[in-house]
Amino acid sequence: MSQHASRLGGLRGRSHIPFGAPSHQRLRRIPRRPRRIAMLSVHTSPLHQPGTGDAGGMNVYIVELARRLAAIDIEVEIFTRATTAVLPPAVELAPGVLVRHVDAGPYEGLAKEDLPAQLCAFTHGVMQAWAGHRPGHYDLVHSHYWLSGHVGWLAAERWGVPLVHAMHTMAKVKNAALAAGDTPEPAARVIGEQQIVRAADRLIANTTEEAEELVRHYEAARELVAVVHPGVNLDRFRPADGRAAARARLGLPADALIPLFAGRIQPLKAPDILLHAVAHLLEEDPSLRERMVVPVVGGPSGSGMAKPEGLHKLAARLGICDVVRFRPPCAQDELADWYRAASVLVMPSYSESFGLVAIEAQACGTPVVAASVGGLPVAVRDGVSGTLIDGHDPADYARALRPFVQDPGRVDRMGAAAARHAESFGWDTAAAATAEVYTEAMRERRRLRSAHG
Ligand code: UDP
Repeated sequence: MSQHASRLGGLRGRSHIPFGAPSHQRLRRIPRRPRRIAMLSVHTSPLHQPGTGDAGGMNVYIVELARRLAAIDIEVEIFTRATTAVLPPAVELAPGVLVRHVDAGPYEGLAKEDLPAQLCAFTHGVMQAWAGHRPGHYDLVHSHYWLSGHVGWLAAERWGVPLVHAMHTMAKVKNAALAAGDTPEPAARVIGEQQIVRAADRLIANTTEEAEELVRHYEAARELVAVVHPGVNLDRFRPADGRAAARARLGLPADALIPLFAGRIQPLKAPDILLHAVAHLLEEDPSLRERMVVPVVGGPSGSGMAKPEGLHKLAARLGICDVVRFRPPCAQDELADWYRAASVLVMPSYSESFGLVAIEAQACGTPVVAASVGGLPVAVRDGVSGTLIDGHDPADYARALRPFVQDPGRVDRMGAAAARHAESFGWDTAAAATAEVYTEAMRERRRLRSAHG
């Protein structure tokens, strides 16, 4: 098993085919990979722009994983809820990857919180698509986030195929680390997640820590949890022509200190801590004001939707509007330039399943200052490719940023280490590891089927 798909409970031996075994025996024992899978993403479409609303890392994860699975001959059909009337029933995202739009509830005006009431309609749409095919059309269901897990539970049972589920985030984990005043996840989600953990043949966790959380909070069976680190698109996110060129393209000063925030603007991601830290730095050294730019790239999301102007108001209250630049969410090719231009990416999140932006920024040659939560200790090599911080005191973030002011060479040194670190997170590795999880789930199903006659 590859280093990126390890069993939490230790590696279990793979079935080896003895050299020289009769060919019919060899054929029988070759583990079968799925030919085609149904991937479920109920609440957000892989075709949406990430960085605002319900679209973020999971959308990127699904797109990248599906493309790479298709490249290794596993066709992927992604089911997602139709959110406008003009969408075609199916769109080819890439060769071997189809996005199917399912009608479930009104196109617009439904929040994620309203979607549990539409799961029956969504499941109906998935079943209709399946009914048009020959039996055995899908070999496996891979669901993402708990809402999809509920649809997957029923579909997998009806089709007699394994259910592989990825939580992406978990209510109990989020609730244990809420920002002050943030809204907790409802009990119904906790119950829903518990049911999926019991129903799934395999659970995929981003990190060992997430796998432990599944065991600790949801009583997942250890041997059914596989750890697969997400990847980064290394063709898109790379140092390219460097920091100075990216700054020139974005109209940013060549010699400025640029701490960047990128992602969905919500209390959980804590961009406010970056603004407070910047205010600290400027108070200590007012001359820095002349050579500091703080881009905030992304749009409101989650409980941040209730006060979309909150961060602008905070910047005004702290007297730092002149250095902060708010930018709407942008396509990943442009985001790559923001990463390259930055001196450092700052991620003070309260909770983070993995934190794709951390690995993307590093792949572009930019170090990261991040809270030591969730997947970030895996994504960032503390002291090498960035700095990890315990807790959420803005003074600690200011302290971590100060060395980048005092020693400008640090950006390039740590940035080079960051790019090297990120290279080990390719999506091809993640897709190969995911395919192994599929194969194991299918093998286990066959074993159980033959054991029960
Ligand atoms: N992103 C983007 N444009 C933006 C901001 C973010 O495409 O303007 C993407 C970013 O490249 C990353 C994803 O959104 O892949 C955010 O993922 P992350 O895991 O950091 O956070 P999540 O949204 O899942 O909480």
